[in-house]
Amino acid sequence: MDIDKSALLVVDVQKDFCSGGALPVPGGDGVVAPLNRYIDDAVERGIPVYASRDWHPANHCSFRTKGGPWPAHCVQGTLGAEFAKELAVPLGVHIISKATSSDHESYSDFDGTGLADRLRRGGVKRVFAGGLATEYCVLATVEDALREGFQVVLMTDAVRAINVDPSDGERAMQRMIRAGAVPVAWRTWPDGTRRITVVD
Ligand SMILES: [Zn+2]
Repeated sequence: MDIDKSALLVVDVQKDFCSGGALPVPGGDGVVAPLNRYIDDAVERGIPVYASRDWHPANHCSFRTKGGPWPAHCVQGTLGAEFAKELAVPLGVHIISKATSSDHESYSDFDGTGLADRLRRGGVKRVFAGGLATEYCVLATVEDALREGFQVVLMTDAVRAINVDPSDGERAMQRMIRAGAVPVAWRTWPDGTRRITVVD
């Protein structure tokens, strides 16, 4: 991971999006191990880590009880809104809470959070993005990051899709890459070391 002007952005890796949660992303728990490797690497290199969370009031407009598409999830202060248990949230993490008012839905970490300014003030030019779910909050966040002028590195081994339509996740990946995100994953190199590697 390049030390210069990078930040790691972990999108919505919360209990409600993992197995046993209110709105589980299939295989969502699978992002935790690769993300922990990215987090370790970032901490070692002094790269700041940002972790976003869906942080809804109990009467949020995205809930079915309010006419929205989703079951109630990630209600502020509840167990389901906590970060996934095994996620190695580092000391000094910057937490981004979004969709915090009842009448506004946000999929993007940049929507109403001040994140772009916070990153710029920190001198960040490039974000490494991953988390849940690929075709919703990761896609919206990556598109906004690019629109805001940040370079984006997409951690392809650290995202999972809901796949309401089975191709949703793959289509979102292609869309992010076409928009300019550079796809990477952890790979074992011939010399036996594991490195963050650009993938096709
Ligand atoms: Zn939500």
